[in-house]
Amino acid sequence: MARIVLKFGGTSVADVDRIRQAARHVKREIEAGNQACVVVSAMSGKTNELVAWCRQAAPLHDAREYDAVVASGEQVTAGLMAIVLSEMGIPSRSFAGWQVPIHTDDAHGAARITGIDATELDKRMNEGWVPVITGFQGVSPSGRITTLGRGGSDTSAVAVAAAVGADRCDIYTDVDGVYTTDPRIVPRARRMNRISFEEMLEMASLGAKVLMIRSVELAMAQKVRLVVRSTFDDPEAPQIGPDGAPGVPGTLVCDEDEIMEKQIVSGVTLARGEAKITLRGVKDKPGVAASVFGALADESIVVDMIVQNISDDGAVTDITFTVPDAEYDKAVRTLEKASAIEYEKLAGSKGGAKISVVGVGMRSHAGVAASMFKALADKGINIQLITTSEIKTSVLIDDQYAELAVRALHTYYGLDKPEA
Ligand code: ADP
Ligand code: ASP
Ligand code: MG
Repeated sequence: MARIVLKFGGTSVADVDRIRQAARHVKREIEAGNQACVVVSAMSGKTNELVAWCRQAAPLHDAREYDAVVASGEQVTAGLMAIVLSEMGIPSRSFAGWQVPIHTDDAHGAARITGIDATELDKRMNEGWVPVITGFQGVSPSGRITTLGRGGSDTSAVAVAAAVGADRCDIYTDVDGVYTTDPRIVPRARRMNRISFEEMLEMASLGAKVLMIRSVELAMAQKVRLVVRSTFDDPEAPQIGPDGAPGVPGTLVCDEDEIMEKQIVSGVTLARGEAKITLRGVKDKPGVAASVFGALADESIVVDMIVQNISDDGAVTDITFTVPDAEYDKAVRTLEKASAIEYEKLAGSKGGAKISVVGVGMRSHAGVAASMFKALADKGINIQLITTSEIKTSVLIDDQYAELAVRALHTYYGLDKPEA
């Protein structure tokens, strides 16, 4: 017997028929003698609708009430899933995050899970029940409903899996695994059988939204075995693993040492909506960068890529960095207002795209950055900014070339699946 957490995303619970399809996966696990605990997202599009209603009610609304509103989508799907499972003869009941309870801090809209009391879940599962938990939410120390940030149900699922000591956390979604790049952009993208936590972490933070970043961090820290698989596969079909033998279909996210063949580049990612800001003629002296980025941090503006030029004369230099498009106006206003920051000119633009290549093999192979720049140059694509880490290289380019760049790099690094 194994204990399994099954998480179903928005498209997997988009209507009652889809919920029924998802429930058949739960039924298969129960019939195989396993224990199951389910975590659900809201119906696809629902959370966006709820967010829009809050904005319509008041552009600057109370974050605690925003959470009360947007957490409601999951309550509907959790209840429906419990009804459908019971109808199939599987005893089930729904739990809102606060009923479990899933404790979080009080950072409304971006709360972090601080602890889960798994006593009731444990008891129910041992008695043959299937608890169905609302993803994306918990309860703050003062008893208010909190949400974990967009895509947060993945994190709920991993946290529940750790709390109940699950053998596996299966993330059911609308793709049958993690691909070398977003399959919606590159149809020739290949599904990976395995990906390391570190590569998945980079891919998630660089724009592959198949898993929320925090969920990967948590799975890595808590050693949760994470599988990404499709809800739309036939639930009653024999379960065949990636190696062709009976097993769990999909992509296993696991430790690096469980991966035999280490690719130099295993994936390509795209993040759109990156704005670029350049401060020209900044005084080249200690403390200047700290005051620029300190002012932005005080406004909770997240800065991503940063480049500072060597100054010619030792007197002034240029600093360029990126922020999300949505924060661009606020960032410009903050810098213009901050009288302590001396610069000659501020220039910037929205609408950049960040393209990254990721792979653990980069640790031991030189020249990946150079080959990436060449592949882009061959397509006539100009690079505006570059950043690197041990296992990734990222460039900022004009958005109109974004998809071309992703496809070019995907082919260049041999990731296209062979023609059928
Ligand atoms: P869910 O609602 O189930 O949480 P999401 O929409 O959050 O699903 O994530 C699944 C989507 O992630 C896919 O439909 C796919 O378009 C996108 N995606 C982006 N990059 C990748 C990738 N490298 N591999 C798989 N899917 C990806
Ligand atoms: N429903 C939430 C969202 O759309 C959480 C999730 O789906 O993971 O962001
Ligand atoms: Mg998601």
